[in-house]
Amino acid sequence: MIYKVISKKEFRAFVDALVSNNRSYGPQQVETDRNGNPVYQFKPVQSVDDIAFDYTATASSAKHFFLPFREELSRFSFEPAESDRLPHTDLELVHGMENGWIQKINYDAEPVVLIGLRPCDISALNILDDVLLNGHFPSPYYLAKRKNTFVIGMDHLPLPDCFCKSMNHHTVTTGFNLFCSDIGDHYYLSINSSKAFNFLKEFESRDPNDDDNCLLVERRKMIQNGFTTEIDVTALPTILDIEFDSPVWEKWGNKCLNCGTCAMVCPSCYCYSLTESFDTSLKGAKREKQLYSCNLVDFAVVAGGHNFRPKNGDRLKYRYYHQHRGFAENGNQQICVGCNRCGRACLSGINPKDVINDLRMEKESCLTCVSSSPGRR
Ligand code: SF4
Ligand code: SF4
Repeated sequence: MIYKVISKKEFRAFVDALVSNNRSYGPQQVETDRNGNPVYQFKPVQSVDDIAFDYTATASSAKHFFLPFREELSRFSFEPAESDRLPHTDLELVHGMENGWIQKINYDAEPVVLIGLRPCDISALNILDDVLLNGHFPSPYYLAKRKNTFVIGMDHLPLPDCFCKSMNHHTVTTGFNLFCSDIGDHYYLSINSSKAFNFLKEFESRDPNDDDNCLLVERRKMIQNGFTTEIDVTALPTILDIEFDSPVWEKWGNKCLNCGTCAMVCPSCYCYSLTESFDTSLKGAKREKQLYSCNLVDFAVVAGGHNFRPKNGDRLKYRYYHQHRGFAENGNQQICVGCNRCGRACLSGINPKDVINDLRMEKESCLTCVSSSPGRR
């Protein structure tokens, strides 16, 4: 990592040059919520003036730039004979199949600049990297987008309901090209790629001095001490194991509307479904991937129509198991980064803090009940 300090004015000039020459997205206010608070989303930007640098958090995460809601994985067409002479690019695979059918797979991804991602958003991308790049079956679709995306991260003071500190994702050291910490009139830059270093060479920056380092430490302390929501996630995977049959799941499940919004806004949920459909001409077909949510009623329906999780509470439970237990067991980390987007978006008021606290209280009352005491002997 290389560190530099840049004035905010010069940084704006840098971003302006970047966004005017590349397809770029940054936070913009798109709405006002029922409490009068601004709602932000990542939107296309053409100039630095389009970017709300002082935004809080976006309602949807940046994962959709890497995992679109709907993505065509391959296209099939019926082209007898010369099909193998069809033009194709390096990033397009063309497979000959039986009976004149050919399959085309396009991994191409346009270069994109993403500006203003928060540390928890970048952490979520690192988690997606573990699943989609570092696992047994890396996704070439995800890889193409990840490699072609230039990520600029920015720190921020926590919102009242952020709990990323509890999940240890309030700071981030990998997964971005450039990360900016606000130290007053300047940004303290962490440069994590040669591309970012080379872009920045054209602009005036300097090595950090002692005062800059002190300001960075102060900024980090301010962020660290700014959290008002904390969740005790100690031993949570074990508690989830013990509480598999807890009434807590039914209690919260009864409130759930099965809308799937929580998984859609979540930066680390990646479950999907696959569909194949024919063109009406019967000469073409496509295979598509759609993001899905384990809270949707048919998530666990299998061929023949049996639903392994017909109850709301069971589906809600499995979302929490995926976020806080299954991956912790296999990948040694919980995949929730503590952004609380799901809690903000849920129309039923279901949020990780209340659900996890309920489980923990359940566990603690259980321990009180079974612990040996003079009265029970
Ligand atoms: S957003 Fe809330 S109501 Fe909708 S599926 Fe998720 S938990 Fe259920
Ligand atoms: S707080 Fe909710 S939306 Fe955010 S990472 Fe955790 S489960 Fe996903």
